[in-house]
Amino acid sequence: MSTLTDKLANRMLVKKGDKTNTIIKVKGCAIGSDQLAIVAGPCAVESEDLFKETAFKVRGAGASMLRGGAFKPRTSPYSFQGLGEKGLKILTKVGEEMNMAVITEVMDSEDISLVSEHADIIQIGARNMHNFSLLRKLGRCERPVILKRGMAATIEEWLLAAEYILDAGNEQVILCERGVRTSETWTRNTLDLAAVALVKELSHLPVLVDPSHGTGIRSLVTPMSKAAIAAGADGIMVEVHPHPEKALSDGDQSLTPRGFSQLMREIEPIALSTGRRIRS
Ligand code: PEP
Ligand code: MN
Repeated sequence: MSTLTDKLANRMLVKKGDKTNTIIKVKGCAIGSDQLAIVAGPCAVESEDLFKETAFKVRGAGASMLRGGAFKPRTSPYSFQGLGEKGLKILTKVGEEMNMAVITEVMDSEDISLVSEHADIIQIGARNMHNFSLLRKLGRCERPVILKRGMAATIEEWLLAAEYILDAGNEQVILCERGVRTSETWTRNTLDLAAVALVKELSHLPVLVDPSHGTGIRSLVTPMSKAAIAAGADGIMVEVHPHPEKALSDGDQSLTPRGFSQLMREIEPIALSTGRRIRS
C-alpha cells in the first residue's frame, strides 16, 4: 500500500487537488457517479442477429452499456477466437442502432487504432494486465480503458498497472475485479470483493465487478452482483446470451435475457440503499 502514496491512482492525489472520484462520461453514462454502470452482452460477438437480439433485450431490462468480444483470449488456440474486424463492425452498428456505448477487448497493440475506431471503451483483459508496453500505448489513446485485474495479481500490482496508463497520459481508467485464481476449484475464480472495498478507499478510479468470470457459474452471477454493489462497486459487467447452451464461449456463466431482467430487479433495492440509481 505504501508504494501507492505518490501515485496518480491514489485517492489523496486526485489531479487538480480535489478528493472527488474520477467520473468517466461516455454516451450518456457517467461511470463512477451515483448512476450505477450496468454493462451487459455476450462473451463474444457471434453474429449480427444474436448480438442485436441480446442488445435489444439487455437495453430493455436497463443495461447502460453493451459489451462483446471480437478478439477473444482463449486458453486453447483451437477454441473460437472471435470474429475480429467483422465482430467490431457488428458491435459499432448495433451500438449505434441501440444508442448505447460499446466495449470490447484489445489483445494486441497493433489493433489499438482499429478497436478505438469501433468501440467507446477499450477493455484490457486479465491476461494482458501485465503487458506494460500495451498499457503504455493505451495511455496515449483517447478512449477510456477498462483494466481487468490479472489472474493472480495483487491489489498493488493491479493499481500499478493502472498507473502505466495514467502516467502515459490517459486519465480515463476504469478498474474491473474479475476474480483471482486460488486453490478453490468449484468456482472458476475467487471473486475478491474485499479488494473492491479497499480499492475504493485507496483510489479515485471507478471500479466495476465482473461476476461472470469471477464465478464461472450462472446461478452465482446475481448474488455476487448484489454483493458487489453492497461492497461499493461503481457497476457490474455481466455476460448475457439468448441461448447460453449454444454459446461459442462462456455459456455456463452467461445469464439468459430473462435471468438478466431478474438480476436487474434484484439489484435495484441494493443500489438504492447504497445511494445509487440504476437508470439515468
Ligand atoms: C472477458 O471479459 O470475456 C474475458 C476474457 O475476461 P478476463 O480477461 O477477465 O478473463
Ligand atoms: Mn467471457
